[in-house]
Amino acid sequence: MLECVHPDRLVKIRKDRQCFACLEIFPKGTEMIMGVYKDEYIYNLYKCQECKELMIEHTSEIADYDGIFWEGCVAEWKREAENE
Ligand SMILES: [Zn+2]
Repeated sequence: MLECVHPDRLVKIRKDRQCFACLEIFPKGTEMIMGVYKDEYIYNLYKCQECKELMIEHTSEIADYDGIFWEGCVAEWKREAENE
């Protein structure tokens, strides 16, 4: 289970980063939301600002039944929305 170590904050990325929710790569200098999490390891998760808003607006559709956001969750949600 993911534990949040540092709450999400806005950072300017210093190298290219992948948004964990939509899986797109953003170039360095982009402002992204970074959160620090730990389960077995401590790691940083980056998400883009669009995903952050989508995840707030559509939480019940994007998160799983336990309210957890998985890697690629927004990408999958967008794909499903396109197929409807
Ligand atoms: Zn994203």
